[in-house]
Amino acid sequence: MAIKLYNTLTRRKETFEPMEEGKIKMYVCGPTVYNYIHIGNARPAVVFDMIRRYFEYRGFDVQYVSNFTDVDDKIIKAAEEMGEDVMAIAERFIKAYHEDTGALGVKPADEHPRVTDTMPEIIEFIDRLTEKGYAYESEGDVYFRTRKFDTYGQLSHQSIDDLQVGARIKVGEKKEDPLDFVLWKSAKPGEISWNSPWGKGRPGWHIECSAMVKKYLGETIDIHAGGQDLAFPHHENEIAQSEALNEKKMANYWIHNGYINIDNEKMSKSLGNFILVHDIIRQFDPEVVRFFIVNAHYRSPINFSDEQLNSAKSSLERIKTTYLNVSHRLEETADLGESTDRWLKEIKKYREQFTEAMDDDFNSANAVAAMFDLVKTANKYLEEKQTNKGVLKAFLTEFDDMAFVLGVRLGEEELLDEEVEQLIEERIEARKNRDFARADEIRDQLKDQNIILEDTPQGTRWKRGQ
Ligand SMILES: [Zn+2]
Repeated sequence: MAIKLYNTLTRRKETFEPMEEGKIKMYVCGPTVYNYIHIGNARPAVVFDMIRRYFEYRGFDVQYVSNFTDVDDKIIKAAEEMGEDVMAIAERFIKAYHEDTGALGVKPADEHPRVTDTMPEIIEFIDRLTEKGYAYESEGDVYFRTRKFDTYGQLSHQSIDDLQVGARIKVGEKKEDPLDFVLWKSAKPGEISWNSPWGKGRPGWHIECSAMVKKYLGETIDIHAGGQDLAFPHHENEIAQSEALNEKKMANYWIHNGYINIDNEKMSKSLGNFILVHDIIRQFDPEVVRFFIVNAHYRSPINFSDEQLNSAKSSLERIKTTYLNVSHRLEETADLGESTDRWLKEIKKYREQFTEAMDDDFNSANAVAAMFDLVKTANKYLEEKQTNKGVLKAFLTEFDDMAFVLGVRLGEEELLDEEVEQLIEERIEARKNRDFARADEIRDQLKDQNIILEDTPQGTRWKRGQ
């Protein structure tokens, strides 16, 4: 079965065909790091992680790159306001991004390039565009000559004349044409800057992705992804820059995720309804937030509310309860039970249903529905007087595979030895500091995870319980 995906470029669902069999080159536009991410930034991180996982589940080797914009007007402004260094702010919020998205089950990208580490490639990219006549310098700034790129507007399906209406040259811009966009900005006195053939300055926003895609993935990639709000002008400009220089198609498939509304209102600064991931995961288990996001098709708008999160919470609990019940039954079951074929066939049916849903433009809403059908069937099987190990294992494998794609954990994960050692160290330290409450807490936590501690004159020993 083939995977179909909706390509913004053609506005059609297309059968996915990778450039190289079994391999996928995928690029996802990342955040500008000057604040904690809000739930609107979390959605692309989660849904494109899910899509990456699904490709892996289907046996593809995915090379996944996502950038950090670590120098830009917003960060410079934030640095001024906070009286902090631009690089220090970026560093802090990159760390926070990894913490927040990690909690949401997002796997780190293979590469997370930063603008400040890509400066030579960015400058070379712009320089070569000027050589080809696609870009020009104007008083220390460099602009892209939009009209020279014939197919401008192909991604957002707009003609250059439509775009012309309403385009204005803003104060301080030194463009030939209102449609031109900035590739390099000259630095104001005291601003962070880099040397370039056009004097001290920094890159415009769009050029970084073109340079990074080329550096890490090549001139043409399979999939370029991002939020719907990035399609124009950001992605349109990326195409113009890359295709003008490389004379090759930039990406075969462009995919965009839909918006998140908060309590049925658009999330906006003026409404003050920004929900930070940092805050919401203190109120709800991050896994619930993830499950809520993957519960909808990635292109549909979704509405974020406490009510929706509570409903996601109870849905996830239902799945986990069944999973635990099947696991426990497997531990105590003797290998009895007959006519396993019927059940194995049922399980296979739900795997197909799940795969079919995901093959259809990653319809995770329907994939979750297949998972609930599996829950119902598993609950029915548990009512049987005699159960069979093979069938129970097949249920668990099926749940594990689905959970891997959706990015949630169903069973308790076993602690690694080094994590146990670390907790024991922390407990020894706590006891030294006479913080017995913390020491007991650690002992209880380990006990819950089936780790038994034994304090001996030679030190603390541990073993896994039965
Ligand atoms: Zn980008």
